[in-house]
Amino acid sequence: MNTLLLCDNENDIKQAGEILRNGGLVGIPTETVYGLAANALDGAAVAGIFKAKGRPMDNPLIVHIAEIGDIERFNLVADFPKKAKLLAERFWSGPLTMIMPKGSAIPDEVSAGLDTVAIRFPEHKTAQAIIKAAGVPLAAPSANISGSPSPTSAAHVMNDLNGRIDAVVDGGECRVGLESTVITMVPDKPRLLRPGGITVEQIESVIGAVDVDDAVLNQLDENAKAASPGMKYKHYAPKARVILVRGEGYIDYVNKNAGKNDAALCYNEDVEELNVRSFSLGNSEDIDIQAQKLFDRLRQIDGENVKTVYARCPKPDGVGMALYNRLIRAAGFEVIDLEKL
Ligand code: AMP
Ligand code: MG
Repeated sequence: MNTLLLCDNENDIKQAGEILRNGGLVGIPTETVYGLAANALDGAAVAGIFKAKGRPMDNPLIVHIAEIGDIERFNLVADFPKKAKLLAERFWSGPLTMIMPKGSAIPDEVSAGLDTVAIRFPEHKTAQAIIKAAGVPLAAPSANISGSPSPTSAAHVMNDLNGRIDAVVDGGECRVGLESTVITMVPDKPRLLRPGGITVEQIESVIGAVDVDDAVLNQLDENAKAASPGMKYKHYAPKARVILVRGEGYIDYVNKNAGKNDAALCYNEDVEELNVRSFSLGNSEDIDIQAQKLFDRLRQIDGENVKTVYARCPKPDGVGMALYNRLIRAAGFEVIDLEKL
């Protein structure tokens, strides 16, 4: 299959919409990461996403809409809880995904057999235009080969999926750079399943206290049932071994322990002091930029034949919670705590 590289002009967006309406697969830009989209109401089209990515069939997809009214118009949910409406009014369009009881229009392929569905209204103008051009909601996971770092540019999508999907729309680099916040609105007290660009603090300022699922910051037992199936898989991992280094003394530790094929994933201020190859996420104080750059840096490291990456461990609050959640999975939960050595 020849994968078309489309631009974000009116004509190309119309073409992307037609491909999607006809059951095809298109990589689309969003503010979080690039998504691999298909018509969410067409089970056969959605099945193609799992095949192209090599994604386990038990990992459900997020349905993307272009206005809040799409939820009722397309029968996407069986119930739109009051707290979910409040969050939608405050944070949509934006990087927040809400899980609700699924409506009759949702095929089993989307929900992976669960009785719930994940919904998001992306803020990216090109994503909105493509959904409108398709005329249907779009199911879309991240547009990478399953397990590898999520794509934050059209080039990343092409690297992974060229020849396996119909088209990619180039909408530039993603603003947030990490996948959306996922929260289930099914229980009375909603529960955060995946941290992202909308923080727990922001959510609680609108609907009061929420729970944070154990799997967000900790490793699940092998036999534990994940509330969000995606949490149980090895994820975001480059080929190199990643080790998170927590605490003061990062520079000394890395300088002492890193070999010549190793590298540091660090901050701008560290680069001069380190005597190993370093990949900077940005200034130490700029957590938004660090989040935006993470996946791109992991992909760069993949291109450079690095054996072990010693990564700075972020503080897990605010957007740092999302960064920490992705890094700890990239590291397969391998952490060196300098305070405990
Ligand atoms: P991705 O689109 O690749 O970023 O993954 C979507 C994430 O949302 C995965 O972690 C899924 O397991 C999770 N998810 C999607 N739908 C549901 C659902 N109905 N219940 C729980 N988690 C879900
Ligand atoms: Mg993904």
